[in-house]
Amino acid sequence: MEWEFQVTPSVPEEVYDVAIIGGGPAGATAAIYAARANLKTIVIDKGIANGALGITSRIANYPGVPGEISGEELVRRMRQQAESFGAVFVQDRIQATDLLSDPKVLFGNAGTYTAKAVIIATGSMGRGNRVPGEDRLLGRGVSYCATCDAAFFRDQEVAVAGSSEEAVEEALFLTGFASRVHFLSPKRELHADPELVKELTEHPKVTTYWGVTLREVIGEDKVEAVRYRTPIGTEETLPVAGVFIYLQGGHPITDFLAGQISLGEGGCILVDSEYQTAIPGVYAVGDVICHHVKQAVVAAAEGAIAAMAVEKQLRGRKKLVVDWSK
Ligand SMILES: Cc1cc2nc3c(=O)[nH]c(=O)nc-3n(C[C@H](O)[C@H](O)[C@H](O)COP(=O)(O)OP(=O)(O)OC[C@H]3O[C@@H](n4cnc5c(N)ncnc54)[C@H](O)[C@@H]3O)c2cc1C
Repeated sequence: MEWEFQVTPSVPEEVYDVAIIGGGPAGATAAIYAARANLKTIVIDKGIANGALGITSRIANYPGVPGEISGEELVRRMRQQAESFGAVFVQDRIQATDLLSDPKVLFGNAGTYTAKAVIIATGSMGRGNRVPGEDRLLGRGVSYCATCDAAFFRDQEVAVAGSSEEAVEEALFLTGFASRVHFLSPKRELHADPELVKELTEHPKVTTYWGVTLREVIGEDKVEAVRYRTPIGTEETLPVAGVFIYLQGGHPITDFLAGQISLGEGGCILVDSEYQTAIPGVYAVGDVICHHVKQAVVAAAEGAIAAMAVEKQLRGRKKLVVDWSK
C-alpha cells in the first residue's frame, strides 16, 4: 500500500503545544490523545518504513484489529485518526534538540520546530553494523522479535543469532513453532540464566553453533539461508526460512539528544511513572524507553498516558498518576 504521508514543503513556524518526535504506535497514539484534548500537536517522523511497526509485514495481536494487518497499515490508521482530531504530521528527521529552552526547539533536516512540550517516540531501530541482506529482507524473514513473528515460521527451520538472555529466551519461544532452531552464538558462553541455557542446549529442536559470526542473510524476496563464519575461519551456508537477530539488540534512537538527557543501560531513556524524563516538559514513550515491553499495544498505551500528562501539565492541573507512596 502506498503511504500517503504529507511532506510539508515549508515547516510551520508557530509554537506548538506539543511536538512528538516519531510517529509509530507510541507517537501516533500520543498525537491522538493530545489533539483530542485540543492541544496544538505536531508529529515529526522520518518515514513510516523506518519504524519497528512500519516495517512489520504482519500484525495479528493488536486488540480490536482481528486477523492479520500490516504494521504500516496499522500505523497509517493511527495517524489518520490523529489527523482527524487536528494533529499535523510532517516528514522530517530530527537531528538535534534544545530541550532546556522555552519553548523547546527541535532541529530537523527540513526546518525547525518549537513546542511547549516534547514527546520522544523514536523507537529502538537504531542498530548499526548490519550484515549484508539484513536490511533488504527485514520483515521478509529477518526479525528482531520472536514473540511477534514466531508463529509465521510454524514447522520451518529458523536461525537465531546472538548470545544474550534475550536471544536464548527468544530461541526457546521459537521452539514452540519452528521445526528446528539453529542457534548461532558469536560467543562460546551465553550471557543468560544457567537454567535457560541448559533448557536451550538440551532442547531436542535446537542445534547450537559456538563462536560463529553471522556474515550474510541470503534470499531474493524472502530469507532462504544464512551464511556464517566458523571458529576456524571457514564459511558455511545454512538453509533457513527466517533469522532472528539479537546481536546488538534494538538500540534506542537517541543520537539527536546529544547528551541532553542522561540515558540508562543500553542507551534507553529513563522516565517517571508519567513518562516524563529528567527535563520537565520532555516525555519519552515506546521502544526508546527503559523497562518497556516491545509490543505495539504497550507503546500505544504509553503514548496515551504521556499525552494526558502533557495536557495536565500545560493546563496547570494535578499530576495524572496517583503517587501511592503518599
Ligand atoms: C519485525 C518486527 C515485528 C513486530 N511484530 C509485532 C507484533 O506482531 N505485535 C506487536 O505488538 N509488536 C510487534 N513488534 C514490536 C512493535 O513494532 C514495537 O514495539 C512498536 O512499533 C514500538 O513503537 P514505537 O512507536 O515506540 O517505535 P517505532 O514503531 O519504531 O516508531 C518509531 C518512529 O520514530 C521515527 N523516528 C526515529 N528516529 C527519528 C528521528 N530522529 N526523527 C524523526 N522520526 C524518527 C521512525 O521513523 C518511526 O516511525 C514488532 C517489531 C518488529 C521489529
